[in-house]
Amino acid sequence: MYFSWSVPKKGYTWVKIHPDATEKSEGLFLVEKYGEPKRRIYSPLEDEPELFSRFAKLEPTSTKAILKFANKYGNLTKGNLIVPDSHNKIEKPINIEPFKLWCNEISEFALTYRIWRCLEEQRFEDLGLYIRWDKIDGTDVFYVISPFSNSRYLTANNPQSEAIFNTFTQNDLIAPAKFFLQTILSRKLKGGISLMPLEDSSWNLYPYIMPDNLLRALWLQMYLAVTGEKTFIQCEWCGYLLEVTEKTRITRKYHDNCRMAMWRQKKNVVNLSEQGKTIDEIAAETKLPREKVAEWLEEN
Ligand SMILES: [Zn+2]
Repeated sequence: MYFSWSVPKKGYTWVKIHPDATEKSEGLFLVEKYGEPKRRIYSPLEDEPELFSRFAKLEPTSTKAILKFANKYGNLTKGNLIVPDSHNKIEKPINIEPFKLWCNEISEFALTYRIWRCLEEQRFEDLGLYIRWDKIDGTDVFYVISPFSNSRYLTANNPQSEAIFNTFTQNDLIAPAKFFLQTILSRKLKGGISLMPLEDSSWNLYPYIMPDNLLRALWLQMYLAVTGEKTFIQCEWCGYLLEVTEKTRITRKYHDNCRMAMWRQKKNVVNLSEQGKTIDEIAAETKLPREKVAEWLEEN
């Protein structure tokens, strides 16, 4: 796989503009800050194999959280170039990306991620939060419901899928959940991944899979996780995912940074206890769960 993406060093900002004359209301858009065009270039698939779990946990309506993510990892697409105009007080061409796009994409991504995690962690009853069975014209059908919007995905409503639909057992949640993952992943990846022979310095050609933007790369990461091409566990410190590879030890439960953070925090807890503080006081001061503090002091 090969994919590189760039982030402007000065980051982004939100602006309200009319993207075109036909649009009545102004919208909120992410734009690069003006200034020197220095950019950080990175390879999301290699450098950040767990990035999709961070994207899936963004608050879809939080401009602050989205801006923080964009400043670190870049915008989702190549954006739309708009030309200078006096109406919007734009002095030179800029690239814009709608807040709405972020909202919708995070919502769908988070829904997909949550359904997949329910399956992975075998929390099958929790699938009931997202999948409901209903009757339409006397036929049993299921919907997938997004907790972030009023969107309902009726995942089998056309004659082509009737054959597949007949394979589901009424009130089952597992097969419909997997069917949803299959449907959304094929839709999100369609047309956005290229195959390309890339050269090395001696002109040997190697097969490469290339997503066309960061959004597609995130869906590609999700696809690799869902199909089991890559294996992940949840970091016990931060809750984001951690890739398990042949190189990483099986016993690895934390990101390296998280392990360090945990050690520092543990030391801190022991110090506070030695100063005579109670478990409750330590929990309040360190913002750790009470049980964690008690567990660490017992270990010590
Ligand atoms: Zn972690």
